[in-house]
Amino acid sequence: MSYKILPFRFDRFNDNEVIISNEVGEFIFISNHEFENFVNYKLDLQSEIFLDLKSKQILTDTEIAPMVMILATKYRTKKNVLSNFTCLHMVVPTLRCNSNCIYCQVSRKDTVVENDRFNMDKSTAKKIVDMIFQSPSPIIKIEFQGGDPLLNFEIVKYITEYAELCNLFKKKDLEFVICTNLTLITEKHLEFFKKHNVQISTSIDGPRNLHVKNRPLLDTSINSYDVLIDKIKLCRKYLGENSVAALMTTSKFSLNRFKEIIDEYVTSGVKTIFLRSLNPYGFAKRNESSVGYKMDMFVENYIEALNYIIDINIKGTYFIEYFASLLLTRMLTPFSTGFVDMQSPAGVAISGVIYNYNGNVYVSDEARMLAAMGNDKFLMGNVHENSYQELFNSEFLHSLIKSSCLECLPECASCVYQSFCGADPVRNYSEQGDIIGNRPSSELCKRNKKIMHYVLSLIKKKDDNLDKVFWSWITKNPRINDKVYRELP
Ligand code: SF4
Repeated sequence: MSYKILPFRFDRFNDNEVIISNEVGEFIFISNHEFENFVNYKLDLQSEIFLDLKSKQILTDTEIAPMVMILATKYRTKKNVLSNFTCLHMVVPTLRCNSNCIYCQVSRKDTVVENDRFNMDKSTAKKIVDMIFQSPSPIIKIEFQGGDPLLNFEIVKYITEYAELCNLFKKKDLEFVICTNLTLITEKHLEFFKKHNVQISTSIDGPRNLHVKNRPLLDTSINSYDVLIDKIKLCRKYLGENSVAALMTTSKFSLNRFKEIIDEYVTSGVKTIFLRSLNPYGFAKRNESSVGYKMDMFVENYIEALNYIIDINIKGTYFIEYFASLLLTRMLTPFSTGFVDMQSPAGVAISGVIYNYNGNVYVSDEARMLAAMGNDKFLMGNVHENSYQELFNSEFLHSLIKSSCLECLPECASCVYQSFCGADPVRNYSEQGDIIGNRPSSELCKRNKKIMHYVLSLIKKKDDNLDKVFWSWITKNPRINDKVYRELP
């Protein structure tokens, strides 16, 4: 045998080509004929394809041990995100909200009717900050979620100031983000955010009529879009041009309108978009027939939108689609990317964790959403009752994480896209009734596979313009390499 084959995965890419990938995310497209030669040890040792496969450690004609060392180094780099343990700490100061979004995934509580019952109190806030600072991570990002956190601004203020005080001793890289619909933001809030360097993340679902349809306010006499646009201007006045990041959520009414949505972002001066499908929780689940859609329809819209965004970039406007740029970073660089919703093992509690208004701690925001629907399966404990060790070193968490490594999950274990993908045990459980899940019938797997296949087909074109756009996204987007990025206003 003139060469040895190292571990690899493969799949048919199109009628004429196979895609091969390995554990460290190296990949290559190879013709059917070459593939047959490769697996039958018939490749010419001088051929280009042989050298390409060798350079990606998919085969070797030398000793195996040094190759394993190279692969191990690359593997450690790819999984580096795990070395920090929990960086992202999401805190829910209140479940109350003045919006009435048709797809609300957190089952928000009415501002007036529910009054203070769903507000966090100071003793809970203090316990949460004390818990957060027990995390060994050198980076701590505290992200205020809701409801709308501005409806309990006193607690936002308290947590920010108390965290800064704790950090005088802990000396971590401390960041704050507030996820808000912005409609309630005032100059007083902005002065505080400026002083404490709190970043703002909001939702823009598209042009006026679409935004209002998806995200009306409870007070129907106020137009949610008009207020949002005014408040974005106010934020920029206080915090600078690039101070507001935004996300969109796709409802049934957003389909076939992605170009308009993107135009809205470009016109508003927001430089990134994250084209997100609905999560099946809260009102989105309850109102599935009126706001939901088939994942195939989302993917079709996504691909059309991605092409449109690429075109905008080629014509000279720098504008990033977040999900594609995350995949590109995973595909084209050796580095680790820490998007908590798509990691292996899953980011549940070890990358991101959420503290509810009452001190309950959940492994992810989706776990909190599930709890709001009456299912506490992913409750880790409560900051008033449990120690850090009890919460983060529990049998429950160990077993959940062991069950969320793609490397050993059925179908994922042999999937060619594995190195770019991630596990979501909470979503598996909520959609399919168990944390392992069944890939052939998983909507999320279907979405990921189709989008990854499309992004890879663009890389395969080796088109100069496309490459320039992709590398500008990878290298210039500060959030891509952010270990803890995840904001859901
Ligand atoms: S979830 Fe689907 S696309 Fe992702 S690794 Fe598993 S089988 Fe592959």
